[in-house]
Amino acid sequence: MTSSIDGLNTVEILRKGLPASSKQDVIIVGAGIAGLTAANLLKDAGHYVRIFESQQRNGGRLYTHFYPDGRYAELGGMRYAPGHIHAHTLFKQYGMTVLPFPLSYKEVNLNGRTSEINSVTLRDMGFDVEQSFSELMEKTMAPAFKVFDDIKDEDEAYYAFINQYDGYSIRDYLVEQNLTDSEIAAIALLNNIEGRMAFNFAEWAMYVREDAFGSKLTYLKESAGTLCDRMAEPLSGLIQYGARVTEVKQTISKAEVSVLIGGKEHTYKADAVVMTPPPIVLRHIKIEGMDGPKREAVRSAYAGRAAKVFLQFSKQWWEDRIGTNGGMCITDLPSRNIVFTVAGQGSGERGQIIGSYTWEADAMVMASLSPEERILRVLDDVVSIYPEAHQYFEGGVAHDWGNDQHAGGVGGLFQPHQMTSKHYQRLLQPVGRVWFAGETYDRKHRRWIESAIRSAVKNVYAITQSYEEIPWLD
Ligand SMILES: Cc1cc2nc3c(=O)[nH]c(=O)nc-3n(C[C@H](O)[C@H](O)[C@H](O)COP(=O)(O)OP(=O)(O)OC[C@H]3O[C@@H](n4cnc5c(N)ncnc54)[C@H](O)[C@@H]3O)c2cc1C
Repeated sequence: MTSSIDGLNTVEILRKGLPASSKQDVIIVGAGIAGLTAANLLKDAGHYVRIFESQQRNGGRLYTHFYPDGRYAELGGMRYAPGHIHAHTLFKQYGMTVLPFPLSYKEVNLNGRTSEINSVTLRDMGFDVEQSFSELMEKTMAPAFKVFDDIKDEDEAYYAFINQYDGYSIRDYLVEQNLTDSEIAAIALLNNIEGRMAFNFAEWAMYVREDAFGSKLTYLKESAGTLCDRMAEPLSGLIQYGARVTEVKQTISKAEVSVLIGGKEHTYKADAVVMTPPPIVLRHIKIEGMDGPKREAVRSAYAGRAAKVFLQFSKQWWEDRIGTNGGMCITDLPSRNIVFTVAGQGSGERGQIIGSYTWEADAMVMASLSPEERILRVLDDVVSIYPEAHQYFEGGVAHDWGNDQHAGGVGGLFQPHQMTSKHYQRLLQPVGRVWFAGETYDRKHRRWIESAIRSAVKNVYAITQSYEEIPWLD
């Protein structure tokens, strides 16, 4: 068994399939993108596979709400960075149309005043800061990113970087750069990380470096839900919906999986089980053989909160103001981020915006309201900035991921010291015949579909090659 930390070409496996091996009977828990990736790889390589999915749909945290006229709202994942190679490999395999997701036009609405970000200084926005936002970010991140200039090999530089900065929270790092309170406030607000300042700096900084929230993002024209449906097509008859896995017992020769279907418990045997529910949901499933350190690792895998509220209008009133290329407004109102998304708009006049996209503490502000109250609250905020919105409002749709019993949050958020510690290594490891895949079980692109796909590949490769553990950290 290789002990290399980066010794598996997961993209190649995704493209060419698993190598030949003795046939395995594998149960997969969850039909999100990790479960669907794992199942297709196994089936294509001739293994016997079944998926149990607690909901009545595919996709998990890829969740598309379709309007009757074909427009859609991405309540979960919606945009993809160019460097997310595993994701783009799947998009190609399933014939998805990948289009730019520009958010170039940006406004801020602070203390009741709205301005276009590029036309005002940080001082105009109310911060006691001389530089522009991009100058401030450049100055702040340069010391951390120096390692990528010093070490030319990108992987080596990445390991050096996370080794150096894993122990820092975002706030720790900003304070260590001797930034003023006002500079820190500007960085937190304009990067939408006010609620995440206590989380791992290295994780966030890598996304900044990859421009994962930046100008080259894309979306799927047909929707994320369509991708998952296309991935589920070859698995027709192998996915049992409305099937909640509650327990796995282990004997010397098999895993025995208890599944609640229509209120009745059923038991199924398999050579291996791939668990894809995120750790917070996994805690409701009894898994025989989990020792103390593994339980501790699962318990301390924090899941972030996020909520989205879409508003639908009879006319795309925002086009006059921001054009047809999308944009966003960052505000200090409870709605926090208003996104004029290009994804899912039809050819007619009618359209939808993300009236509110919130994270962590901001999502909890929204969670305290019922879905109907949330929609009206968000409409109120939007109208206070864009009064013209009021006359065209038709309705809304809201989803709070923290309260979603099948997801338990938006996804894993590393805390300081968790990326390089035993915590992460333990989290990845199987317990007997039970393996763990999904977005949380990967380090480089946690909370993106990229990590969900990659961890699925790693796990099915390890299972079919009779590994006893996961030797790859990345
Ligand atoms: C609001 C939001 C925005 C996001 N934005 C982006 C983005 O722009 N780009 C991006 O790349 N990623 C984004 N993500 C992250 C991305 O959606 C996830 O990383 C990815 O979809 C996770 O896939 P998964 O298969 O690991 O887990 P999931 O999709 O959570 O799949 C797990 C499945 O297990 C099922 N399940 C749970 N418990 C049980 C049980 N006991 N028995 C049977 N089945 C069970 C669930 O119903 C679910 O279908 C976003 C996520 C959210 C929530």
